[in-house]
Amino acid sequence: MKISIVFLVIISITSLLIYFNSPDSTTMAKVSNLINSDTTKHKGESMNEKLVKTDEEWKKELSQEQYRILREKGTERAFTGKYWDHHEIGIYICAACGTELFESDTKFDSGCGWPSYFEPIEKKRIVYKEDKNFGMKRTEVMCAKCDGHLGHVFDDGPPPTGLRFCINSGSLKFVPKEK
Ligand code: FE
Repeated sequence: MKISIVFLVIISITSLLIYFNSPDSTTMAKVSNLINSDTTKHKGESMNEKLVKTDEEWKKELSQEQYRILREKGTERAFTGKYWDHHEIGIYICAACGTELFESDTKFDSGCGWPSYFEPIEKKRIVYKEDKNFGMKRTEVMCAKCDGHLGHVFDDGPPPTGLRFCINSGSLKFVPKEK
């Protein structure tokens, strides 16, 4: 009896370790399939020039919550941000540098409590980075212009991309579409 319990515990721990250490290759494969959309109608075409500021400068420009998320890779609590349940038509820009990141017609109701999009306006406006914090293997997403932390991307999103860009409202500002 005791031996089978010990055996079960060992098997469970091993499976968990395998699960958390397996590479997040599905997400990155889907990310690399993203097709760059037409950039001409959007600002911030050139991602070559980085926007670099000191911590002091960012602290002056951003609210405490924005600074905590964008510069210190914080996360807002689920269902508390400005945009998880926001449905207006327009564009979501980086709250730090203004780069246009997501369009409202790519936003979907994921039920996770954070604004979720199935693709960015343009693939190269986002930087993708492996994140192994908290015993999980996730893909962090950052603004390519200012390196501000946005959130994470997962491979359980809806068609056409199968991706879920799970973004902190605090990293974004919404700009309604002009009528
Ligand atoms: Fe930015």
